[in-house]
Amino acid sequence: MNMVRKIAENINSLSEFVGTVEYDVSMKNYTTFKVGGPAEVFITPKNLKSFCFIKNYLQEKEQKYFILGNGSNLVVSEKGISGFVISTQKLNLIQYNLATEELICEAGATFDAITEFCINNSLTGLECFAGLPASIGGAVYMNARCYGSSISDILTSVDYINSSGIISTYSINQLDWEYKTSPFKNFLSGSCILSAHLLARKGIKKTIITNCEKNIENRKEKGHYKYPSAGSVFKNNHKFGKPSGQLIDEAGLKGVKCGGAQIAPWHGNFIVNNGNATADDIKKLVDQASQTVFNRTGFKLECEIIFCGD
Ligand SMILES: Cc1cc2nc3c(=O)[nH]c(=O)nc-3n(C[C@H](O)[C@H](O)[C@H](O)COP(=O)(O)OP(=O)(O)OC[C@H]3O[C@@H](n4cnc5c(N)ncnc54)[C@H](O)[C@@H]3O)c2cc1C
Repeated sequence: MNMVRKIAENINSLSEFVGTVEYDVSMKNYTTFKVGGPAEVFITPKNLKSFCFIKNYLQEKEQKYFILGNGSNLVVSEKGISGFVISTQKLNLIQYNLATEELICEAGATFDAITEFCINNSLTGLECFAGLPASIGGAVYMNARCYGSSISDILTSVDYINSSGIISTYSINQLDWEYKTSPFKNFLSGSCILSAHLLARKGIKKTIITNCEKNIENRKEKGHYKYPSAGSVFKNNHKFGKPSGQLIDEAGLKGVKCGGAQIAPWHGNFIVNNGNATADDIKKLVDQASQTVFNRTGFKLECEIIFCGD
């Protein structure tokens, strides 16, 4: 039995851990792109305490692990992910503090659940994120941006566990945040986001519903949910003078295919999985789009989607 398996099989006997441990779990089922081989060990802690415990435990054992949110920005390789994947899907508590006007969401809470919570409690401020197929942990990590607002615009603080296993609270400093970049990608890298505190005020339920529906409808019209994808492939850059999707479109690449992957015929900045795409197919299209746009314009597109796995 290899070391990873031995460590994994021991986890369920540890009283500090509540959750599940599975083996050879297909990442296709945990990513919106529906690509990827198996995770060698797939751990789903049931609560934050178990999440912190297992992170520290694996670190002590010098094991590598990957934190999985809702898998909406990932392209997992066909070989899959060796070692451990820790899923945040069960960390989904959402609460509201009326005194501070803050929504407190555990890392795995999805925007579908957050939107529903906001509607049920007449809370306004997060309507622009309705329809984002992400967890709040992933959205903070990526500093997701939707309809002109970034997560950092509404974030007040983040509870996290750092690479030494210490739990701390990060209070927002706007200087730490940039377009689609968070401190968790730089000076707090190696930390895991436990929960996020977001500004949300009491509003008018009907207006909140209308605005959420408008944004979801707009995503549908743009073809976001037509086929499996990971959303926009490249970041936008105002120095280009136009959106990355337009540069790809003008390079004549809309509809170009590689294996089961295709640059969406309706959206230059989306690559879709037509059914049997692999990470390699997607990578080839990413390289082709970057190279072609660079040759035509001299602009270097920056990839937003994350390639991971072996
Ligand atoms: C149809 C569609 C539309 C999209 N539209 C948009 C859009 O409008 N704007 C936008 O910004 N993005 C968009 N995206 C991309 C994606 O939803 C975002 O990047 C999102 O923030 C990813 O969140 P996630 O929970 O799925 O993270 P994942 O894809 O699971 O992970 C992304 C990264 O975050 C890390 N991570 C996740 N959780 C944690 C945690 N708790 N602690 C530390 N690290 C963590 C992971 O390790 C990984 O490196 C879209 C995607 C799709 C499929």
